[in-house]
Amino acid sequence: MCGIVGYLGERPILPLLIKGLHRLEYRGYDSAGVAIVPQAGGDIKGLQLFKKKGKVADLVAEIGSAEPQGRAGIGHTRWATHGAPNDVNAHPHLSGNGRLALIHNGIIENFHPLKESLAQRGHTFESETDTEVLVHLIEEILAIEGCDLFTAVRNALAEVVGAYAIAVIDTQDPDVIVVGRKSSPLVLGIGDGEYFVASDATPIVEYTKNVVYLEDEEIARISLQDGLKIRTIGNHTVTPVVEALEMEMEAIEKGGYEHFMLKEIHEQPRSIADCLRGRVRLDHGVVRMAGIDDHCEMWTAASRVIVVGCGTSWHAGLVAEYLFEDFARIPVEVEYASEFRYRNPVINKGDIVIAISQSGETADTLAAIRMARERGAHIFGVCNVVGSSIAREADSGAYTHAGPEIGVASTKAFTAQVAVLALVALRVGELRGKIDGATFGRMLVELQSVPEKLESILAQEQTIVEIAKAYAHAPNALFLGRGYNFPVALEGALKLKEISYIHAEGYPAAEMKHGPIALIDEDMPIFFVATQDAHYEKVVSNMQEVKARGGRIIAVVTRGDTHAAALSEHIIEVPKTADALVPLLSTVPFQLLSYHIAVLLKRDVDQPRNLAKSVTVE
Ligand code: GLU
Repeated sequence: MCGIVGYLGERPILPLLIKGLHRLEYRGYDSAGVAIVPQAGGDIKGLQLFKKKGKVADLVAEIGSAEPQGRAGIGHTRWATHGAPNDVNAHPHLSGNGRLALIHNGIIENFHPLKESLAQRGHTFESETDTEVLVHLIEEILAIEGCDLFTAVRNALAEVVGAYAIAVIDTQDPDVIVVGRKSSPLVLGIGDGEYFVASDATPIVEYTKNVVYLEDEEIARISLQDGLKIRTIGNHTVTPVVEALEMEMEAIEKGGYEHFMLKEIHEQPRSIADCLRGRVRLDHGVVRMAGIDDHCEMWTAASRVIVVGCGTSWHAGLVAEYLFEDFARIPVEVEYASEFRYRNPVINKGDIVIAISQSGETADTLAAIRMARERGAHIFGVCNVVGSSIAREADSGAYTHAGPEIGVASTKAFTAQVAVLALVALRVGELRGKIDGATFGRMLVELQSVPEKLESILAQEQTIVEIAKAYAHAPNALFLGRGYNFPVALEGALKLKEISYIHAEGYPAAEMKHGPIALIDEDMPIFFVATQDAHYEKVVSNMQEVKARGGRIIAVVTRGDTHAAALSEHIIEVPKTADALVPLLSTVPFQLLSYHIAVLLKRDVDQPRNLAKSVTVE
């Protein structure tokens, strides 16, 4: 959700924090703020605090020509959970005496009783946030126990129920930042005589590749004099493990594209190739995936796979259901993580739970895997962000290797998820003896040709721009597909909703006649996926039904198609591939279409309203 950044060192601090906030802005963008501790003995007294509703650019305008000084500072881009996005609710929040400033990502679930008891002891609050309560609690503990900030933060967090990543600075200790986390991500960058704190590595990679991923319930004190010290909330000392960051600067920049989303759509030939690299050996006809090869017996014996995810990842899970049934012959259930975790699901020892999450931090998915593991399931993570919580907590898994995805609407991460899940299904099918050698070999050849085929779809962008112009002002849209293209229809509708704010529904094409058909009129664009696969004739019949009611059809068809094309006002062609891999291709026209409609409507494509990239709250 929100983005946290912190810096401790000698560099000009304000520009560094602002740059970090810009890099993190995709995570949350309803308000932003920074606080910097003045150096001891200087002219500036008290915390230098700036915060503003809106984008980071609004904060920059608010700061104007002010030049706050110091060696320790924190910054925040907020995604409001408690209290409206406004200047007062923006972070950082200060303690009542103005000594401490704190930023927070997550939710303090028990903020209400904490607030009441603090109020009884004389604390007053400026904001409506849960966060402000925490900084007052730390202040209270400092006052009562007379301890140092590290201890006070630890004792305060021991009282907190909820999810948090926090960073605190203290005017009485100007060379120190104290941070802590539980269920929200936090990365520490270790430079030469300087330290960085961030929700993800994007603000850090420019300065250092040495990082420490803070674990749940760990608190760190970073000091220019004493270095990094980590303790758990239970007060056990933790030895920091420094890891090397595998991220390049150009991966987090726009590279000449107008938006990250467009760049990421166009990156898909490369991201799919990266995802397959090292895993598919065409010459040997094999798939190698350590996450499966290390657990062959478990996959062979598995009686059921449960896939959990949210949003776009859930759609990838639906594709996985078809893949696993086709190639591995394992019963599959696909669950919204948020529903699954609060039901009382029957999980048997030997069940495998596949958790799909681009960020690897999705709070509902994280909670779902914790619950499933407790009940005896093996957790297989499919994440994009290396070192993320789900990736680390899973028993095994496979990274999607799509590279950083900054646009809030997921594109390349989705196709990479589908590619990884196809590989998993094929490899598991092979292990279980459910797929014949010829089919297996053919699928590998088809997979390898996906990047090239994607290029040919991207080359039709101008056609898609024209279609976007024709339908940008439609108030509603319907997306229909069957079989492997049913999840594609759902994903197409989600993409359009997310970034254009046009109401869109995705449906299995055959279900249309059980309800949505009532909506069809000449103003309603109906986007069909009518590729030549096992369901083609049936989908064409559904197209006839729409046509008979005056609906306007736009169809994604197989190159050279005439039949479905004849029923459509517009077509976008995709090359022929195996049915199981069609989603890797048929999704892309809808990504481009949504993108161009959103641009025509002048939407904020990379940061659509109300959304955030990494959903770390329930
Ligand atoms: N719960 C806090 C708030 O509403 C933090 C939200 C966030 O993660 O940005 O201010």
